[in-house]
Amino acid sequence: MKRILRIIGIGRKQSLTGLAAWLILLIPLTGLTYSALSFNFQYIDDPTGGFASRGWLNSSSLFQTNILAALNEWGERIDSNETIVVDVVSDFGIARAGGTFTFGRFLGTAPGGEAIWEPGPLTRILTGNNPGESSFGFDVKLSFNPTFVENTYWFDPQPELRIDPVQSNKGDLISVVMHEFGHGLGMAGNRSFSAGNYGQINGSFMSLYDSLTYFGGNGNPLAPGGSPNPMFFSGPVAAAAHGSDVPVTFVAQGAFLASQNFYHLSTCQGTDGLDGSLMNGCAIPNGERIPLTDVDLAIFEDQGYPMAAVPIIPGDFNGDGLINGADLALWEIGYGTTSGAVAMDGDADFDEDVDGADFLIWQEGSTASPFVAAASVPEPSTIAHVAIGIACVQFCCHVSPRTGFRGPNG
Ligand SMILES: [Zn+2]
Repeated sequence: MKRILRIIGIGRKQSLTGLAAWLILLIPLTGLTYSALSFNFQYIDDPTGGFASRGWLNSSSLFQTNILAALNEWGERIDSNETIVVDVVSDFGIARAGGTFTFGRFLGTAPGGEAIWEPGPLTRILTGNNPGESSFGFDVKLSFNPTFVENTYWFDPQPELRIDPVQSNKGDLISVVMHEFGHGLGMAGNRSFSAGNYGQINGSFMSLYDSLTYFGGNGNPLAPGGSPNPMFFSGPVAAAAHGSDVPVTFVAQGAFLASQNFYHLSTCQGTDGLDGSLMNGCAIPNGERIPLTDVDLAIFEDQGYPMAAVPIIPGDFNGDGLINGADLALWEIGYGTTSGAVAMDGDADFDEDVDGADFLIWQEGSTASPFVAAASVPEPSTIAHVAIGIACVQFCCHVSPRTGFRGPNG
């Protein structure tokens, strides 16, 4: 349990007088708590010592502290005190990284006759137990190719703060782990990548996520001419967050991004606004942190995850209940926005811009932050490195979910 600054009910259009009142309330209110997931990690090396040779079996290594920080980003958004069992596996046999889960409960039968299974981590959260973990030893499994990780990703030196600039020619490891953990929480399943039944459920069972996705056009994965139909996630919370059923990555066999099919967001055509989401199937850009968006979260709320109500605290731009350097980083990125800004952009006074007034509110609230003593309002020139564009793009990041997918029979 974590004690937080809990202030509920602030409106978008707050008067300055009202704002001052809120600032006075920015003191810890003892006894007010909220739940957050915990994690029980099991680091499992390969026979050649891919983890050990890099020091990654040490719990204080940046590899492990970055993974913990990534999972905490999710954990703070899920209202549960359960502990998720996470295997972190060294695997040179995969191209990059992957995330998967064991099945928890049988939920029912789909119209096509397939059994629908609940993701094990969700079953644990809802019932306190995951039968899949009893069989396979984990709720979620994250797999990493150590060579790829070492060469491709940037390890955040302050993973709890996330304020250092991401190295411009590398991907942010925490973002990648967050993405893989999203697969591990349930965004994986049992659709086929094979020509004969491309896009169909491959066998007699499916994941809950599978059961919430469908194809447009004639309702089959492929149109009569053989081209892929659009694919959507149908959950109502996600649809409300996006404005319509959420486009899922689905391209023809052998096409660019085909490995991202079924279990990622966005068509990657640049038209749906989802190509910057955490669970996008388009790219994890170098030099950037990838946000956990409302649509990302909604995919899991629609599956039944109890989502934490995030209190709105002026200055807590990332909504994690703390006012710290991570919020300052968001303010820096948003600094100079003149209209339409929201809290995540660094708007603390709800006037829809991001300026020095917002910084001062952050500074007032961040009394626990080591940055306060030295902080002043940076000029735009000093923060330009945060906002400049991306030179390189690398593609997402994992084994196809089916290969790591654990059905009820293994
Ligand atoms: Zn992925």
